[in-house]
Amino acid sequence: MTGEPQDDCLFCKIVEGHVPANVVRETDTTVAFRDINPQAPTHILVIPKVHHPDAASLAAAEPAIAADVLREAGEVASEEKLESYRIVFNTGGGAGQTVFHAHAHLLGGRGMQWPPG
Ligand code: 5GP
Ligand code: ZN
Repeated sequence: MTGEPQDDCLFCKIVEGHVPANVVRETDTTVAFRDINPQAPTHILVIPKVHHPDAASLAAAEPAIAADVLREAGEVASEEKLESYRIVFNTGGGAGQTVFHAHAHLLGGRGMQWPPG
């Protein structure tokens, strides 16, 4: 059931502490940890503790927690002293989503191109 931990979900395992992660912030509803394959000097993932497959599903089901994810992304950016940064929610395999547990990528510390690739 959506919202419940999924046995086959890597990020649910990180939330439960069954897979290690370099955690930078944690709240009652979110965890922020460094991406294992960083695409920028700062690359941190902010995830809800509840399982939803993507950001829009999370926002539809639990809008307050979607807001928590965005607020935490801002808090992490502030702690990392990022003046400019990008928050990305890849949604669907064609857009590069590989982990189907909603997550914000917080990217910063280098120049960014527009449009993104
Ligand atoms: P997506 O491609 O779904 O938007 O993002 C998934 C992200 O999770 C990727 O940037 C990938 O590098 C990261 N990732 C995959 N496996 C792990 C892991 O075991 N630990 C951490 N910290 N990040 C991971
Ligand atoms: Zn999950």
